[in-house]
Amino acid sequence: MPSGARVGLTTTIPVEVVLAAGLTPVDLNNIFITAPDPWGLVSEAEAAGLPRTICAWVKGIYATLQRQPDIQAVIVACQGDCSFTQALGEILEAEGREVIHFKFPYPRSRKLLKQEIAALMKHLGVTPEEVRRVQEDLAPIRRDLRELDRLTWETGQVSGRENFWWLVSSSDFASDVEAYRKKLTQFLEEVRIRPPVHRPVRLGFIGIPPIFTDLWDNLEELGAQVVFHEMPRQFSMPYGDLDLVEQYYRYTYPYDISVRLADLAEAVTTRRLTGLVHYTQSFCFRQMFDQTIRERLGVPVLTIEGDRPTPLDSRTRMRLEAFVDVLRP
Ligand code: SF4
Repeated sequence: MPSGARVGLTTTIPVEVVLAAGLTPVDLNNIFITAPDPWGLVSEAEAAGLPRTICAWVKGIYATLQRQPDIQAVIVACQGDCSFTQALGEILEAEGREVIHFKFPYPRSRKLLKQEIAALMKHLGVTPEEVRRVQEDLAPIRRDLRELDRLTWETGQVSGRENFWWLVSSSDFASDVEAYRKKLTQFLEEVRIRPPVHRPVRLGFIGIPPIFTDLWDNLEELGAQVVFHEMPRQFSMPYGDLDLVEQYYRYTYPYDISVRLADLAEAVTTRRLTGLVHYTQSFCFRQMFDQTIRERLGVPVLTIEGDRPTPLDSRTRMRLEAFVDVLRP
């Protein structure tokens, strides 16, 4: 692939390898959800033949790719994400798109993960040394993201919406590392002079990124403070200066629920969360973990479900309102 070629990602994968190859990573989830008409993309995918009864994120990714013919290849996590994305990869290949497979080993294994990362490096023609240099270059950005996250839960100077946007877009650094770096530095300078915000209702969002378009505005109106986003935080690789294999080994998203529970329990304590909102996506297998999460975390949990990229429906809005009321001291 020529230098600078755009490569689609269906989820967070070792982006350092893509960058070391001189390619431009494009997280297709982010392109889909920030499109002017994300609901239109879901309808386009259904019109093209994808069933109504599959996850809207997958349909959104598919339709996004139809509108972005310059995306030359797609890296699909064919293990560690879900069977829908595995099938999506097969459909894309059948349509003539170059698909590169990446597997997060299940069960979690350092040895197999190392092999997968090495295979991706080989496929993209980069050396471990080139990848290490990229990882070093990204380290200050990842440190700044940890600081941004701290300014969310410790001082409240970063809002829930801002926290979500910065962390979720760290999967591909909004496709432009230098612009992202610069904007992040400016943003941190701006927020450091804001007054602290401390509200009594401190919420954590767990599960995959919510598909609703107005969630944070509604929660702010209700007087709640969102100080934790499980998956977006994971996308930012929050554990600091590890080698690449260890970094993606500690990344909880693709592995089993016990790894996630340990991370969530720590967040509940450290961030003094008063309640958790478990976001579940219609037709997603991850909904099955809801009961385990409820039983194991020792704080009130509200489970909500979203399907398409729309504003909150009135029933979900009312349930959030009642939940915040119950948590209010
Ligand atoms: S939300 Fe669930 S079903 Fe949809 S792409 Fe993610 S893991 Fe797969």
